[in-house]
Order: sequence, then structure tokens, then C-alpha cells
Amino acid sequence: MARVVLNQVSKRFSDTVAAVSELNLEVADREFLVLVGPSGCGKTTTLRMIAGLEEVSSGEITIGDRDVTHVSPKDRDIAMVFQNYALYPHMTVRRNMSFGLRLRYGGNFIFRMWRRWNDAESAARREEQFRQIPQRVDQVAGTLGIGKLLDRYPRELSGGERQRVALGRAIVREPAAFLFDEPLSNLDAKLRVEMRRELKELHRRLGATMIYVTHDQVEAMTLGDRIAVMDQGVLQQVGPPSEVYHKPANRFVAGFLGTPGMNLLEGKLVEENGRLQFRSGGIALEMSANQRPEWEPSSSRTIVLGVRPEAILLTEEPSPGCLPAGRGQVELVESLGDVAYVHIRLPGLPDAGDQAPRITAKATISADGLTDRLTPLAFREE
Ligand code: ADP
Ligand code: MG
Repeated sequence: MARVVLNQVSKRFSDTVAAVSELNLEVADREFLVLVGPSGCGKTTTLRMIAGLEEVSSGEITIGDRDVTHVSPKDRDIAMVFQNYALYPHMTVRRNMSFGLRLRYGGNFIFRMWRRWNDAESAARREEQFRQIPQRVDQVAGTLGIGKLLDRYPRELSGGERQRVALGRAIVREPAAFLFDEPLSNLDAKLRVEMRRELKELHRRLGATMIYVTHDQVEAMTLGDRIAVMDQGVLQQVGPPSEVYHKPANRFVAGFLGTPGMNLLEGKLVEENGRLQFRSGGIALEMSANQRPEWEPSSSRTIVLGVRPEAILLTEEPSPGCLPAGRGQVELVESLGDVAYVHIRLPGLPDAGDQAPRITAKATISADGLTDRLTPLAFREE
């Protein structure tokens, strides 16, 4: 197993556009790292550079402390699982799963004779490995629950089964690291949740380094030991899911994570008589001591305050012990069964250009209503 390090890695497909810009990323041995970001932000390109399927324009990549920047894909000791499974249609499941190993330990007859003659010891080791391929395939197929499908062809399998075969093909190779490119995005919602859980379990069992690419922030939050958020080829933030969620580094990360993303309010952070207040139009929010930013509040600077939808308390009348932030009208309620997104027009907020001043709150649908308090986060405007 191995650590994977990207040092100042860039990829340009043309002079004008950088698909990936000076990416620094260190994935620890046995870590599950999720690379997340919107479509086109450079995730696949990053993964393909790690796999060696794409040349870097500049920078270095090391896998297990070996510089592999210019090493061919087959010599990098990694396995990649794609969104479209990429199974060989003319081979059975068994053949699909064993193909990589057969290439590595087998080769054609002449090559094997030459090797036996040239290096008897390594030839014996390889032949032993070659003999064990069927057992390895059976064992991995058993683990993934596809033992009964080994003699079928890919066209005779469902999407979920194909995805398991693609996984199995990667696992039998026992690579130093696994790379996944949106492997669950072609599955229906229910199966996706199931496979997500299985992947996490598999990671625990194999103890392997895994780099997982997705545009789905729920997948990122649930799967990753750490998540790396990318936008337009640039890494925005890396950290454990809860840290990235609760302490987003900038507006992009704040808006990208969470459903819906943070409400971003422009205003001023002012300090008077030791009390910290966020003011925006007719709205004033008291900030508690643990919400104090690292920088000095100043009334001359416009800042952005991020408020999670689930951190907004909706009440008809201000309740005792709760500081009223503002009054608004409910414009739209989107109910999801257990929760609802409540879009509220806040006349007290200043108009943000063409956008009407509104915020979104997330309310639990139950007799008790919401339990959370307002917990805003402040960003300094760059
Ligand atoms: P993601 O996987 O995050 O959706 P990609 O890594 O596929 O994004 O693409 C990043 C950017 O690089 C996009 O703007 C895409 O159009 C561009 N790109 C990707 N592959 C190529 C290529 N082979 N030639 C030219 N541009 C490419
Ligand atoms: Mg992609």
C-alpha cells in the first residue's frame, strides 16, 4: 500500500486553458480521499495523471515514495475503476477479472520460455502466482457477492452487478492504490446508497489507499476520511468532511457543500462595547464569542457572512432567550418528507443586484419544529 503525492501538478490541454493548476495534494497511506467539485473542474484529469493515462504539463507525482511522473500506467501499480465500468464485452466475468493478472504473470508461451531460461527464480515465482489466479478471482468474487455470475458476459448483468465486477477486477490485482472516477453515478439512487456503504466497508477491510472522484457532495461527505474540494482546476480546500463543512475556506466551498449551500449575506462586522454584531441593511445579528473571526472586526470593510440553512430558527413570534434576526415572508416551501427547504424573503436585507433579498432555511418536519440555533460564519471579502 502506498502514499500518493502530487507536487505542483498542472495540466494544460491548450495555451489558454489550464484543466489543473499547480495542484499540491498528499494522500496518506490507507487513506480514503475524495476529490469533489463541479463538472469540468479537473477531477478526471487529475485522476488520469495519477494513473499515467495523461502526461502532466508540469509537476511531479510520487506513489509510495517512487517518482512515477514519467512511468507508464502499467508500471504504476494502481487500479482504476471508471463510471462506465469499461468491462471487455467479449469476455466472461471470470475472464474480465483475471485478465490483468494473466497479463502480469502469464504472457505468451515464447515469453514464458524465455523468462524461464533467463531468470529461473523469478519465473518460478510468477508461475506460482499464475496458478493462483483462479483462487484469487473466486475469493474476491465471493467477497463481492458475484460468485454466481462468473460465467456470464457483461451484457447479461445489471448495472450494479457490472459495477461489482469492475470493482472485483481492481481488487484482484492488489494494487498499491485504487482510483475511482464517479463509479456510482450510473446506478439508481437506492443501489448507490448500498454500494456507498459497501465501498466504505471494503476500504476498511482492504486497508488500501483510495482516491475517489465525484461531483456529488453527499458521496464526498459520507465516504471521505478527508475531502479535497476543487473548482476550475484549482484546489480550494482539503480536510476532514466536518471541518470543510463547518469551516469552509471561501465562498465557493461554502456554497458547494450542503443541500442547499450556505446563505451568503454581505454586511459589516462591528464591535461596540465588547459586543460583536453583524449588520446588513435592517438586520443585526449578535455573534457569540466562539464565532469571533481570527481577524479584527472593522466597520469600514464589507464582509460575507455564511449561514447554514439548518442553523436558522424559524418562529412565528420571537421566543424568549432567542435573539430575533429579522422578519420575513415565506415565499416557497420545498418539502422532502423529513425536512423542508423554506425560502424566505427578508425585506430587511439589502438588495443584492438583480437577486431579491432572500435566505433559505432548512426545517425539520416534526411536531417540535427546529432545534438548532443560529451559528453564522464570517468570511473576509477578498
Ligand atoms: P471533471 O472530471 O471534473 O468533470 P475534467 O478533468 O474531465 O473535469 O475536465 C477538466 C477540463 O479540461 C474541462 O474544461 C475539460 O473540457 C477539459 N478537458 C478534459 N480533457 C480534455 C482533452 N482531452 N482535451 C481538451 N480539453 C480537455
Ligand atoms: Mg470527470
